[in-house]
Amino acid sequence: MVHRVLVVEDETDIRDLVCHALEAAGYQGIPAESVENAQPLVESNPPDLLILDWMLPGQSGIDFARRLRRTEPTKSMPIIMLSAKGDAEDKVKGLDAGIDDYLAKPFSQKELIARVKAVLRRTNREIGEDGTVQVEGLAVDTVSHMVSANGQVLSLSLLEFNLLHFFLTHQGRVYSRAQLLDNVWGHDRFVEERTVDVHVRRLRKALEETGHDRLIKTVRGVGYRCAVN
Ligand code: CA
Repeated sequence: MVHRVLVVEDETDIRDLVCHALEAAGYQGIPAESVENAQPLVESNPPDLLILDWMLPGQSGIDFARRLRRTEPTKSMPIIMLSAKGDAEDKVKGLDAGIDDYLAKPFSQKELIARVKAVLRRTNREIGEDGTVQVEGLAVDTVSHMVSANGQVLSLSLLEFNLLHFFLTHQGRVYSRAQLLDNVWGHDRFVEERTVDVHVRRLRKALEETGHDRLIKTVRGVGYRCAVN
């Protein structure tokens, strides 16, 4: 699973540098030069992490962060704030707005990637260092591609495995069928949206015996959501 990181920065050099560093570290960097450009991207397919510059033309990064924190689907989207102003007062202001971390310019690529990793790890608390996801008795191991429920090994196809992994690492948010296709199947495949329903049904069936099928909710008219208590 490649994490998608939206980079909102008006300075071309820094935006390119951040996206390049992300790609080199195995993430997908999605560039945007303003809040206006970032907004539709955030709505159509929420990224796993947002790297947001403080000072932007038009709406500022910090105002955008506040706005995202107020609305339900983006409330828990991880945000790292970039700023040329490195003083403590700004840092406190940023953290007040609910951002997850703060990086003062200039920063090294190494520093940036370390922060990205730390924030993703913190915000997906169930994911261990080794890539194992454990949620309510379900254990998904991305190295051995094994899934067990209450200690019992389940047999899942690769697609169902990827789908389950995506749900568990993106809890709480509703995903449309098109978004699931993008994230789990990949962009270049031509697959009909009802294929998603078929695989969700198979996944639920596999999880039924131990009652874990309840984790994957259907949101009528929208799509699916992973709900963990
Ligand atoms: Ca700027």
